[in-house]
Amino acid sequence: MGRITLDKVQKKFGDVEVIPPLDLTVEDGEFVVFVGPSGCGKSTLLRLIAGLEDVTGGEIRIDGKPATDLPPAKRGLAMVFQSYALYPHMSVRKNIAFPMKMAGMDKAEQDRRIAKAAEALNLTDYLDRRPGQLSGGQRQRVAIGRAIVREPAAFLFDEPLSNLDAALRVGMRLEISELHKRLDTTMIYVTHDQVEAMTMADKIVVLRAGHIEQVGSPLELYHAPRNTFVAGFIGSPK
Ligand code: ADP
Ligand code: MG
Repeated sequence: MGRITLDKVQKKFGDVEVIPPLDLTVEDGEFVVFVGPSGCGKSTLLRLIAGLEDVTGGEIRIDGKPATDLPPAKRGLAMVFQSYALYPHMSVRKNIAFPMKMAGMDKAEQDRRIAKAAEALNLTDYLDRRPGQLSGGQRQRVAIGRAIVREPAAFLFDEPLSNLDAALRVGMRLEISELHKRLDTTMIYVTHDQVEAMTMADKIVVLRAGHIEQVGSPLELYHAPRNTFVAGFIGSPK
């Protein structure tokens, strides 16, 4: 499960309306990319869904249940950030186990989930290493592993590859797409990179100044951009 519905979700910081009331549905299992220029509100929107920011107005529902007032830990979503935020003194295994340990999960269940995540991410041979002994791409995979073991209804990624060099980024894009197929779980992926949006998304949401310019598949946006902003950002010239 992992259907997320935003109903007139609005966000103001003080008097500044960063997200005017916005409607959006993310279907269960969909890979949705939020794309748009820097400062258009992509991170804010993701943080509202995650519960890291409170909405100023509107409703968020996850699998049909009201989630607007739930704290992040109760939403059943997992956020993956661009910074790896791994514990340098802990092994990969302990890093991945950490959220489960904090939740007081049974040790056998922890081990089962670690083995499953490590297999999905090709980390099985690296579980006893420390983050400092891993490449950038492997560290990013550990961060994703820590999200996987929570078996979330959806993964939320905020520009997770922006700290990686160009070559590594291409490989990680493919890996995340593969992971999406394997896990069959909803993913919302924020980027300002058109190529990432075009190659990874089932559905692209083009944002501009906090509102949705257009929603569609990569092909729809490419061939039928609604206006010059979308065309300039993603599509072929109109
Ligand atoms: P993006 O991720 O698309 O680059 P953000 O969501 O980070 O954009 O920011 C959208 C707008 O909201 C920007 O103008 C930013 O300055 C503003 N903003 C974001 N967070 C805060 C905050 N905590 N307080 C005030 N303004 C904020
Ligand atoms: Mg951002």
